[in-house]
Amino acid sequence: GFRCGIVGLPNVGKSTLFNALTKTAAAQAANYPFCTIEPNTGDVGVPDARLKDIAAIAKSAQIVPTRITFVDIAGLVRGASKGEGLGNQFLANIREVDAIVHVLRCFEDDDITHVEGRIDPVADAETVETELMLADLESIERRIVATRKKAASKDKESMAQLPVMEAVLAKLQNGEPARTLLAGFDAEEARELRGLNLLTSKPVLYVCNVAEADAATGNRYSEAVAAMAARQGARSVVISAAIEAEIAQLPEGEVGEYLEAMGLDEPGLDRLIRAGYELLNLITYFTAGPKETRAWTVRRGAKAPQAAGVIHTDFEKGFIRAQTIALADYVSLGGEVAAKEAGRARDEGKEYVVQDGDVMMFKFNV
Ligand code: GDP
Repeated sequence: GFRCGIVGLPNVGKSTLFNALTKTAAAQAANYPFCTIEPNTGDVGVPDARLKDIAAIAKSAQIVPTRITFVDIAGLVRGASKGEGLGNQFLANIREVDAIVHVLRCFEDDDITHVEGRIDPVADAETVETELMLADLESIERRIVATRKKAASKDKESMAQLPVMEAVLAKLQNGEPARTLLAGFDAEEARELRGLNLLTSKPVLYVCNVAEADAATGNRYSEAVAAMAARQGARSVVISAAIEAEIAQLPEGEVGEYLEAMGLDEPGLDRLIRAGYELLNLITYFTAGPKETRAWTVRRGAKAPQAAGVIHTDFEKGFIRAQTIALADYVSLGGEVAAKEAGRARDEGKEYVVQDGDVMMFKFNV
């Protein structure tokens, strides 16, 4: 599955958010309960309003959302790249995630110590990013010597890698994360960059943890973070971890009223989960029948056989074709049979690029 790592300085609200996230997910998807894979790791259902619409048409007995994994990565302090605190473990944990959810303290509360003694989320983000850049710099400096030698003796792989490594080195030495290279990279270069498995080439989502009163509007701190995110081509969301913790404890019937009182349309966590999903460049396709309506995840750009492989590897190996109905057709025409009659059920082959919202059925050899 796809994994988002939750990072941030101590006392910014990471655990509060993570605990709310895992409880809410359990409440939302009773048939896909939150499960602890390992300490501080949780699988959560991705909220998707389309599931209900499809299930109503297909008369499905149950709804199964697709999932995304969040990992609470504690232990970041200034000096982590030098092994301070839980530095090494922290960096190893980040290496294993696909994207980073970076929680920033945007609330004031004199009772809760800030490790740096002041509220400044942009400076906090820079502190964390600096540790990640230092770790990447050390890693690249260590590896590039051998790559330069091998490239000089015409080793193909090293020759392809070297220009990307040199570009990364220059960026890091200039105090910029590796992800800033992506805008100017072609697909091949981007692949090489991913292959280096650096910390600062992973996509980042900033989560502004604001006080309850600021949840609906944000505040000057979250505005500063949004401006920083825009400069970096990153994204940010405003959340009040305290509100989310409260919602996670409410009976389902009371959530709507509470949200309204807070001036919110939906739980912030729903936005966070969806933003994490988008951050990973994922899309959803659906399968629908009397047993269940189910959402499945693929990377944007995936072809039909790969999509089939998410359900079962045999579906990919024996792939023949995919009957595909666009969601809009499925809903407006009223289901599979009607879509077929209207000629809106397409037979797609191996080269079909799956579209977000496709309702699919695979034909395969066993
Ligand atoms: P972590 O160290 O980043 O995991 O932070 P925690 O989630 O443990 O939170 C640290 C402290 O800040 C706890 O006492 C939380 O109750 C408190 N806290 C978290 N979010 C908020 C918030 O939005 N407002 C206020 N006032 N306190 C919060």
